[in-house]
Amino acid sequence: MRRSIPALFRKLGLGAGRCAVCGAVMTDGSQVLCDACAEGLPLRTGGLCPTCGAMSGHETDPPSQCPDCRLEPPPWDELYFHGPYAGRMRELIIGYKFGNRYDRNRLLATLGIEAFEARPGRTPDAVVPVPLHGRRLVWRGFNQSAEIGRGLARRLKLPLLLHGLERTRNTPPQTSFGFKERQINIKGAFAANPARIEGRRVLLVDDVYTTGSTLRECARTLRRAGCAAVDVLVLARTRRDL
Ligand SMILES: [Zn+2]
Ligand SMILES: [Zn+2]
Repeated sequence: MRRSIPALFRKLGLGAGRCAVCGAVMTDGSQVLCDACAEGLPLRTGGLCPTCGAMSGHETDPPSQCPDCRLEPPPWDELYFHGPYAGRMRELIIGYKFGNRYDRNRLLATLGIEAFEARPGRTPDAVVPVPLHGRRLVWRGFNQSAEIGRGLARRLKLPLLLHGLERTRNTPPQTSFGFKERQINIKGAFAANPARIEGRRVLLVDDVYTTGSTLRECARTLRRAGCAAVDVLVLARTRRDL
């Protein structure tokens, strides 16, 4: 019986890499993703608000600020993100955070870098990840925002300020709340370290933008502590605010 080449590779474990998302065996060892997964993770460059990432219209439309941001801009200047929080991107992030798929670390950081470099913006002075509370950090074993931030900081040759922001109290997961409750839940949950961030232009990093409540609170805290400016980078954004 004739065996297919990928099956042979799988059996021998030689030469082929595995797709970082679906695990498919690939004959081209230089690829990180199989073609299907690469196609399922397109970089969104148009039909979006550059300030909050709200997606509208067609992907080919030039970025333009949405009415909400024109009326009441968030406490940051630019929001970079790779694509909508859906499909393969969602699977990838959920698997990373909750499925012990720490091996996806580099891939996620690469998606973040791609999102940042796709849009010409001002270069930040430092990268600050959204912190996890100590208890949750122990439970999960790593802070996904810090890991994405680490890859970005390395690539952009910037300092990664792991303690630029600290959690001052643990909060129930934001996923259990609606928009208003999320704002209340997260209020006053962070403190910034002025010695580290004063006068600096900070790139604040998180994995997913859902309602933006956590990022708003973080950015406000950073600005109150003397940050010159804040930009935000997330891997994915929900299509609509909750
Ligand atoms: Zn794949
Ligand atoms: Zn907007």
